[in-house]
This record gives sequence, C-alpha cells and structure tokens, in this order.
Amino acid sequence: MTKHITIPKNFMTIFIVTFFMSNALAKTLLPPNDIADRFHNDSETIKIASSDFGHIVQEIPAAVFYPNSVDDIASLVKYAYNNSVPINVAARGQAHSTWGQSLARDGVVVNMTSLGNRLNGSGIIVSSDSSLGSYADVGGEQLWIDVLNTTLQYGLSPVSWVDYLYLTVGGTLSNAGISGQSFRFGPQISNVYELDVITGKGEFVTCSPKENSELYYAVLGGLGQFGIITRARIALEPAPKRVKWLRLFYSDFSAFTKDQENLISKNERRDNKALNYLEGMLLLNQGPQDLSFYPVSAYARINSLVTQYGIIYCLEAAKYYYDDRESRVEKELLDLLKGNLGFLPDFMFEKDVTYMEFLNRVRSSELFLRSKGQWEVPHPWLNLFVPESRILDFNSGVLKNIILKQKIPAGIVLIYPMNRNK
Ligand SMILES: Cc1cc2nc3c(=O)[nH]c(=O)nc-3n(C[C@H](O)[C@H](O)[C@H](O)COP(=O)(O)OP(=O)(O)OC[C@H]3O[C@@H](n4cnc5c(N)ncnc54)[C@H](O)[C@@H]3O)c2cc1C
Repeated sequence: MTKHITIPKNFMTIFIVTFFMSNALAKTLLPPNDIADRFHNDSETIKIASSDFGHIVQEIPAAVFYPNSVDDIASLVKYAYNNSVPINVAARGQAHSTWGQSLARDGVVVNMTSLGNRLNGSGIIVSSDSSLGSYADVGGEQLWIDVLNTTLQYGLSPVSWVDYLYLTVGGTLSNAGISGQSFRFGPQISNVYELDVITGKGEFVTCSPKENSELYYAVLGGLGQFGIITRARIALEPAPKRVKWLRLFYSDFSAFTKDQENLISKNERRDNKALNYLEGMLLLNQGPQDLSFYPVSAYARINSLVTQYGIIYCLEAAKYYYDDRESRVEKELLDLLKGNLGFLPDFMFEKDVTYMEFLNRVRSSELFLRSKGQWEVPHPWLNLFVPESRILDFNSGVLKNIILKQKIPAGIVLIYPMNRNK
C-alpha cells in the first residue's frame, strides 16, 4: 500500500513523500550495476539500521547502502527517483535521532560514514579567503569531534556547537545544532557558508545564501527531507585556549531564569566581554546524581540541598580565554556576574579547563553510562521552545507538578533561554 502526503509546490524533492513499500516490493530492488555491490542486506546490517538512539521506533529497511563516493549516492538517489515504485531513502549519520528519523521502512538507509576520509585524506579541509575569512570544508559524514581536532591544529574552531560531539555534521545540520553558544552565534545552521547536496532527483547541487538559495535554506534544518548533505563549508574563528566554566545553584526558578536572560542579553558576536556559553540544568532528588563536575568535598552539602528542595536549578556558564592571562578572564567573569545574581551564595562552583575538555564534556558521561549498560536504552527525548511569557507556568505545571510531585523519573533536563533573533 502506498500512502501519499501532499507536497507543497515549491519543494523540489521526492524525499518528502513518505511511502511504504510492501515486503514483496522490497525484495525486487534492482539497482544499476555500478552500485549493486554497495547494497547489503545481511541480518546483522539490517538489524543495526532498523533502530536509532531513541530505541523507540523500529523500521526495517530493505537494504543498507555503503557509498564509496558522492557519485554513488547520486546514482542511488537517481535510481530511487526514476524507479517505477518510489523507494524510501534515508541518510544515516550516527543514528542519534530519537524518533526514527534516520530509518527507512522497506527502503534504503545510506550509511554516510562509509564515505570515509575522502576530502584530502581527512574529510576536513581548512582554508581561508578574503571574503569569508577562515572556514572548513567538511564531509556531511564527519563527526564534530573530528572537525574540532582538525581545526584546532590550525588554531581555529567552529563557533556554534552541540553538547555532544560524536554526531555527524550532516545529522546536526539537518536539525539545527543548538547549544550554549547559540544565544550569540545562532545554531550551527546559521554558521554555514555553502553546501553540496544530492537532491531528491539525484542531482549534485552546490548551494549557498546566494546560489540555489531555496535549496540551501530548505536543507539546513530540513530533517533530511530535501536532499543529502555531502559537504558543508563551516565558519571558523580563532580557537580559545582555555575556559572558565561555572555552575551556580538556585532554589528559586524565577531568579534562575531572570539571571539566565540577563546574562544572554549581551549577545553580540564580537563582544569580548560577553559570556561565550550559557545553559542550565536541573538537579533532581531522584537517586544518585552525576556530581563529577564538583569537588568531592561538596558532595554531601549538594545532596542535602537537593533533598531539601527536591529540585535545584543550575545555571551553567563559560568564558573563553585566548592567552595565558587567567587573571584577566577571572576579572571579566566577576564583572559579568557581580550585582544582583540570585544564586545561593555558597553554591558557586568553578573549573578551569582546556577548550577541548569543555566542548567534549558529555563524552565522559557517555562512557560512564556505557559502562553501566545505560547508554543503549530507550530515550524518549523531547526538545521544546517555550515562550518566555509561559516559562514560569512551565516550571510550576511541568517541573514541579508533574516531575517533582508525581515523582516521574526525568533523566537529564536542560533548560536555557535563546534569543529569538538568533
Ligand atoms: C547524546 C546526545 C546529545 C545531543 N545533544 C544535542 C545538542 O546539544 N544540540 C542539538 O542540537 N542536538 C543534540 N542532539 C541531537 C542530535 O543533534 C540529532 O539527533 C542529530 O540528528 C544526530 O546526528 P546524527 O549524525 O546521529 O544524525 P542521524 O540521527 O543519523 O540523522 C538525523 C536526521 O538527519 C538526516 N541526515 C543524516 N545525515 C544527513 C546528511 N548528510 N544529509 C542530510 N540529512 C542527513 C537523517 O536522515 C535524519 O533525518 C544530541 C543527541 C544525542 C544522542
């Protein structure tokens, strides 16, 4: 049975048609000879490609495609487009989507990582020119950790990040790529100069805000529905050396959000005095906490604070520094924080770490959870943008009334403001 979804006229690709081939059809995949050996359908391969990090949705593909080149992807998509029965195609980066976005029921999953290091032997080329300044050309299959490692060799870095770096460039640019830097630089999709895309017809198209702009704006944040990103040109700036990393605890939600909002109100890209990163999270009285950020000597009083209030709001901020003058950044940070911040006076914690340690901070949690067998578990994650006017209601209605009162196990909860104009 085939289910058709109406396609708005200005969208030019077949990817947005969701359809379901019957199993009988799946068995009749007859790809052209030049790419025939790239398809795999052994049971182990199919099993891996049937699920994602969410472990909630399962969709069994007919085959997994292992491209050796961008041309292979173009041939696959051309074949899918021209086939008498449409074939569902989904790019798969790290499959860290949580609701089956990288799956393709009865269709073909493209294993992007099999492209390997095709650009200059590394998959990442750092360059500069007079109009753009420094940038990196990066394969869509590359991991952000590898982008960081490579650009740091040139003393450079992308400006906008995700919290976890073992995600692909194509995967996060198909969403947005949001983290604590977005209040200043916008999400990752706002820091891309140019893309190479295989469109839904299997055409190779380079696009940018000036060239094929409709495709450029559709693909960025396009949930993989407008084509496959094979290269992104990403803005770079000088990399900081070290980071002052702070966590401040609040028992009062309105003081917490007011301080967060004030701190991101200084948000010009070039403002050296502004914070470089701001997020926030909850500490909940729901069993053992990951306290690895804090000094061991503080564990007991943190635990008793969380027990006392049930819920503690933690403002997380960072200030980068580019030379060894730690005292100057310390002073700038104090200048930023002085005044009327409403955190609990004895609950300000600070760390001084390398830029890499800071950006790669989630890796240690991953390894910890893996060692406990708690990584490959269902992740019913939800991301929400809540208007500022309703954020206090969100606290009382959801955080307090549902999570706290009804003792719903919440896992990790991040909460931080964003400037709408970014
Ligand atoms: C531990 C963890 C932490 C996270 N932290 C953040 C965070 O801080 N900020 C944030 O914004 N997100 C975060 N995410 C979400 C993450 O950005 C998305 O799940 C992203 O899609 C994962 O990238 P991926 O390479 O695994 O993509 P996949 O899950 O493989 O793919 C996701 C979607 O993108 C499409 N796609 C993949 N590659 C391409 C390509 N080359 N071209 C076109 N479409 C493509 C897929 O078809 C699918 O629709 C996090 C996820 C995890 C698991």
